[in-house]
Amino acid sequence: MKAFAATELYFNEAADRLGLPDWLRTLLLAAKREVTVQVACEMDDGTIRTFMGYRVQHDNSRGPMKGGLRYHPSVDLDEVRALASLMTWKTAVVDLPYGGAKGGIAVDPKKLSRKEVERLTRSFVDQIHDIIGPDTDIPAPDMGTGFAEMSWIRNQWEKYHGFNPAVITGKPVEEYGAKGREEATGRGVGIIASKMLKRIGIRPDQCRVAIQGFGNVGSHAAKYMSESAFPIVAVSDVSGCYYAPDGLNIQDVLRYTLANKGSLEGYEHATKLPADDLLTLDCDLLIPAALGGVITEDNVDRVKAKMIIEGANGPIWPEADRKLKERNVTIVPDILANAGGVTVSYFEWVQNRQHYRWSLDRVRQELDHTLSDAFEQVWQEAQRSQVGLRTAAFMVAIRRVQRATELAGFVS
Ligand code: NAD
Repeated sequence: MKAFAATELYFNEAADRLGLPDWLRTLLLAAKREVTVQVACEMDDGTIRTFMGYRVQHDNSRGPMKGGLRYHPSVDLDEVRALASLMTWKTAVVDLPYGGAKGGIAVDPKKLSRKEVERLTRSFVDQIHDIIGPDTDIPAPDMGTGFAEMSWIRNQWEKYHGFNPAVITGKPVEEYGAKGREEATGRGVGIIASKMLKRIGIRPDQCRVAIQGFGNVGSHAAKYMSESAFPIVAVSDVSGCYYAPDGLNIQDVLRYTLANKGSLEGYEHATKLPADDLLTLDCDLLIPAALGGVITEDNVDRVKAKMIIEGANGPIWPEADRKLKERNVTIVPDILANAGGVTVSYFEWVQNRQHYRWSLDRVRQELDHTLSDAFEQVWQEAQRSQVGLRTAAFMVAIRRVQRATELAGFVS
């Protein structure tokens, strides 16, 4: 199943529950605009290479569209389309005044020099500067992009349109970025985990956690959760899975990766297993926070966790999702679980527009407040409608987008 088909399936399950008419489904499923551009870039050796770039703007009924830019060889229109649609539902479920978009370039940035990535990024902005902007579509980092790309994008866009840092979020703090943006997604995963446990009636110290991926999301989730008394029994990255049944010392793991270029490779205070073993370890809560499509029909029967929080986008394929539901595994879907990042991106945009800076404490408090409210609304929808949290999250989100579409007067 392709990424867009999976999103469509989840959307339709919720739309069925809401009794959404067919014409409205079509309207809300299709993207408003899909742009494909050829991005020419001069290499360091003077040759010219071209790459395919995409920006899909899915929906703007609730506000300017918002979504990351991904640099990865697997980027294609189908993937970007699915991720753009997910952004509409993500911003709606946490009730940010935004729509959804996504973009990217089919490129492996690790195979380019920094200067080449900069030229590629500026060339991409030359192609799309007219369709992005603080009131229309605000990009942000995603896989393969970070502070540097956001700074180049702002700088290149401002050459056309003048000073306006709110055109992009995920900027360095020194360049109009928000304090707490870097930790926000992982912290949000931890906040959601704490809320879920309270609702289920389990104490954090009784909940053994395994986290796949120790990058931005995984490492910050591990930090927040270990500080909140969750025993983290395993973490993994591309180098392998590091397992300690009595709980890892996460401060020690973080110190190790900081000194080891972000990698867990060589970490000795745990048993090393193959990377994929993490998904099927004996634990209570599993947090896939690396890649999409990692829990499939092939491995789902071996997944032992009774709770899963989707740190990554789309880590569970629909066939596996169905089987997990049959086994009553509680799944917090990506559109809610990893919404901490876009929430603090929104705080960054607000600060840029007000020319005012918030303290880290304020960012953290507002993040906690926004995600706690969203979790509570989704939980209550799930109870009321007797559905899983994924369908409930889509129901809350679709209802908001439907209402905004109707209020705008498009539909009589
Ligand atoms: P990242 O590049 O910082 O980290 C990815 C981690 O996954 C790395 O530790 C990498 O080694 C590991 N990894 C890769 N392949 C693996 C494998 N086969 N097994 C185990 N580990 C593997 O990325 P990130 O920013 O942490 O994003 C992770 C996921 O979260 C992505 O799906 C991304 O779309 C999603 N997400 C990120 C954010 C954000 O703010 N960073 C927001 C929303 C969603």
